[in-house]
Amino acid sequence: MSSPILELRDVDVFYGPIQALKKVSLKIHAGETVSLIGANGAGKSTLLMSIFGQPRVTSGQIIYEGEDISRRSPHYIASNGIAQSPEGRRVFPDMSVEENLLMGTIPVGMEHADKDMERMFQLFPRLKERRNQRAMTMSGGEQQMLAIARALMSRPKILLLDEPSLGLAPIVVKQIFQTLRDLASEGMTLFLVEQNANHALKLSDRSYVMVTGEIRMTGTGQELLEDPQVRAAYLGGH
Ligand code: ATP
Repeated sequence: MSSPILELRDVDVFYGPIQALKKVSLKIHAGETVSLIGANGAGKSTLLMSIFGQPRVTSGQIIYEGEDISRRSPHYIASNGIAQSPEGRRVFPDMSVEENLLMGTIPVGMEHADKDMERMFQLFPRLKERRNQRAMTMSGGEQQMLAIARALMSRPKILLLDEPSLGLAPIVVKQIFQTLRDLASEGMTLFLVEQNANHALKLSDRSYVMVTGEIRMTGTGQELLEDPQVRAAYLGGH
């Protein structure tokens, strides 16, 4: 297989005396959909945020396209092709849908903004209907769509998603995951952090299971869906 587009090698992260990530290693290849599942507080968000340099890794490396980016600025990382749709959506509440999308172009400039915005409206027709609406007045699902679309406006090579299903109704979760599936089938590389193991594993080519800051298990989405331990711990034993 080709070399990974993104790789974590033996990454440790501390918050003061607390070790949140313990020798975490994982690989994502171009075109793959990879997920990280785990319970509340396992360290999933920390891992995703550490890719953007906040928090800084205490030791280990984050290799993106062959370069260690663990000491690089978030702007450098974003302008070189990594985008993030953060947990809790964090859209700009007072800005309209269009304005939020334009903010997504900051790492790369406005050159393709109009065309890319039309593309986002194809991907998320709901956002088109609401293009002039302020983000704070939109539903949770619409804000999640906006957060993903805004991340895509920087034309990333890899999209990191922190819990896109969080707090959303099942029907909305289904729509969001269908869109992620469409993006993946067009060749987008996705790295997804999720507590919703069922959806995440069904979407993923490969997945990692994190327990208290450590990677405990890895396999294809299908293998983990069928694994008795994973089923008992993350799929409600079904
Ligand atoms: P959740 O799904 O609940 O967001 P998570 O798997 O994303 O959980 P993290 O948010 O990465 O987990 O948290 C991992 C551990 O690090 C937890 O014990 C948490 O309390 C701790 N932690 C997270 N952020 C900080 C911080 N800024 N300062 C101190 N400890 C933190």
